[in-house]
Amino acid sequence: ANSYVGFDTITQQIEHKLLKRGFQFNVIVVGQTGLGKSTLINTIFASHLMDSKGRFAADEPVRQTTEIQTVSHVIVENGVKLRLNIVDTPGYGDQVNNEGCWDPIIKYIKDQHSAYLRKELTAQRDRYIQDTRIHCCIYFINPTGHSLRPIDVIVMKKLSEVVNVVPVIAKSDTLTVDERLAFKDKIREELVYHNIRLYPFDTDEDDEEEVSLNETIRSIIPFAIVGSENNVIINGAPVRGRKNRWGVVNVEDPGHCEFVNLRNFLTRTHLQDLIETTAQIHYEAFLKEEIVSHSR
Ligand code: GDP
Ligand code: MG
Repeated sequence: ANSYVGFDTITQQIEHKLLKRGFQFNVIVVGQTGLGKSTLINTIFASHLMDSKGRFAADEPVRQTTEIQTVSHVIVENGVKLRLNIVDTPGYGDQVNNEGCWDPIIKYIKDQHSAYLRKELTAQRDRYIQDTRIHCCIYFINPTGHSLRPIDVIVMKKLSEVVNVVPVIAKSDTLTVDERLAFKDKIREELVYHNIRLYPFDTDEDDEEEVSLNETIRSIIPFAIVGSENNVIINGAPVRGRKNRWGVVNVEDPGHCEFVNLRNFLTRTHLQDLIETTAQIHYEAFLKEEIVSHSR
């Protein structure tokens, strides 16, 4: 007798459902004014549009950011639909008194958790909930080459309690390769010293694959990035680049900076893990806090 039941087709069913629905991935950029946050968003989307369609959309110059706003694009690859939302935030840290300047950003992130909870409580069980929870926060560090500023320490600590924080060295074309490496080490040391625990988090359930995924990413964080809103022609093709006193920096050349590493990290290697960690660690922590505050 044939005892084949056929439940193994469930993986195809799940896949079909997921593909039809697509994925939603939400990133926020945070850091001092003028460090290139809006430019990076522009660069990420331009590189994706080029990847998928082989052309470049003409871009408007990046303007000063005065409010929290979302830029979003749907990227389709091999029938898989990804809606990438990047939340731009106004800079801070330029005031004499920076006390509480991070509050609107923390509030924004928590508000997305509340909104998700409300939907979970009211939606029909099988209905898909639009997820606006922030899966990754890219934190921009001033490329001083010396150390973190006190405000970086405070803000990264606050953020790390509510979201996956991934630090980057902004405008790394302003540092030499040696300066970059030394600065990376220094930043890692200071994060340990200030007891700031950032993504990725180790858990007891990690299998070998996850452990190695975490190791790879730890060895590169903070990403030394460069962004640009202009194209330069390299080998006859337009790429995002910047001219500086040493020549032309090709944003997409891994020998020049770690923009491509960051892009791969976000949209390729760690996409699913960032989404899962948000649900399992940060959203869970939010729920616990909600329960405690309601039972007081
Ligand atoms: P934001 O305030 O963090 O959003 O910064 P913007 O994206 O508005 O950029 C501020 C200025 O820095 C602009 O003149 C950009 O052209 C410039 N800029 C952005 N990214 C880079 C970079 O990677 N390297 C250098 N050298 N300049 C950059
Ligand atoms: Mg901006």
